[in-house]
Amino acid sequence: MAKLQNVRGTYDLYGEAKRKMKKVTSVGSEVVEKYGFEEIETPIFEFTEVFSRNLGETSDVVTKEMYCFEDRGGESLTLRPEGTAGVARSFISEGMQQNLPVKLYYSGPMFRYERPQKGRQRQFTQFGCELLGVETPQADIEVIAMAYEFLEKLGLTGSVTVEINSLGDRESRDAYREKLVAYLKSRYDELSEDSKTRLERNPLRVLDSKEECDKAVVEGAPLYKDSLNEASAAFFNAVLKGLDNLGIKYKVNDRLVRGLDYYSHTVFELVTDKLGSQGTVLAGGRYDGLVEQMGGGKVAGIGWACGVERLSMLLEADVSLPRPIAVIPVGEDVNDKAVEIAYQLRRAGFRVEHGYSGNLKKRMMKANKVNAVKAVIVGSDELSRGEVTLKDLDSGAQKNVALDKIVEELR
Ligand code: ATP
Ligand code: MG
Repeated sequence: MAKLQNVRGTYDLYGEAKRKMKKVTSVGSEVVEKYGFEEIETPIFEFTEVFSRNLGETSDVVTKEMYCFEDRGGESLTLRPEGTAGVARSFISEGMQQNLPVKLYYSGPMFRYERPQKGRQRQFTQFGCELLGVETPQADIEVIAMAYEFLEKLGLTGSVTVEINSLGDRESRDAYREKLVAYLKSRYDELSEDSKTRLERNPLRVLDSKEECDKAVVEGAPLYKDSLNEASAAFFNAVLKGLDNLGIKYKVNDRLVRGLDYYSHTVFELVTDKLGSQGTVLAGGRYDGLVEQMGGGKVAGIGWACGVERLSMLLEADVSLPRPIAVIPVGEDVNDKAVEIAYQLRRAGFRVEHGYSGNLKKRMMKANKVNAVKAVIVGSDELSRGEVTLKDLDSGAQKNVALDKIVEELR
């Protein structure tokens, strides 16, 4: 019989890894909620078109990485490879444009058929946010500040750099595309077969090719910054000035582009040198054309998404839970009372462990094993006087406490 195992590129998450991921998403929610973002949960699968039409038909994600399937009704569906397209779809189908700006965040699994390696999985988790309906650079500044504060709260700003670039507006991009095509044609023979096709269909995609031969060509490619029109350059300067003003350090990376078609103007990545070539922990940008392209109105948008696994791998210390209280009955006849005391303590907010079985010694060992801070020892003699024994497991000191004073004593 074949060995029972999970699918390549997927992981069972539990223990320390899960605790760290939960910390990343809970710190993330806490931060973005302060900026007025509300959580949205869209379905894990959508009609394939939601992604294929909007991420770019020639993007790596669409051409190579999507999990598409036909359901029993013959519909072509796709497990979401990213969050923005689904949120934009929901924004349109739920009629949210009535109430701009709309600020949404999400977290959950994404699926991409990639070659699994450290920090690159086939099912992974993203936490992300989308701000829709704001055209001014204030939106860019705010969402980047939010990403920065998020990493700061995780204690990671020391090992992470903010890289930023501008792709400009439609006019600038068209001007850029022309220069790029001329350049790529001049080095046509050096390009990979994939990139030769990209050159025909969507030359901008050559810029994020992962093929070594393409990378060498891209090194010498024209830069977006030389094609920005006045308005786009002014927009980018306003964003940078805003970040300076907040004291957020960044590095302009002229070579930074994003792998999906819907980006314009500001693009940014938060990058660490600690995860090898999987160093981008958070990435995002402006996507002013996306909602319109999907059939909604002309609504500006900007957002980012982080890889929760990659971020949690950077957290050094395990996430500590509060030390529990151990409730320990001495003898069968006080079991029920012990259960009752544990219930009361939990309802009063304490984390309580109950040894479930065994004599006093065994249960004390279990209490130490779970690193309990105190033990509430329930014996029938004490109980008949309305008391229990409270033992400090660090110092060993113990004293009798009236039943109705336990909570007070523990606080
Ligand atoms: P990469 O260049 O590493 O492939 P990407 O540009 O495809 O990243 P995005 O689509 O911008 O990634 O997704 C945002 C974030 O999600 C990434 O910065 C990364 O942290 C995380 N991420 C993307 N793909 C994966 C994956 N296969 N496994 C784990 N995390 C991922
Ligand atoms: Mg990728």
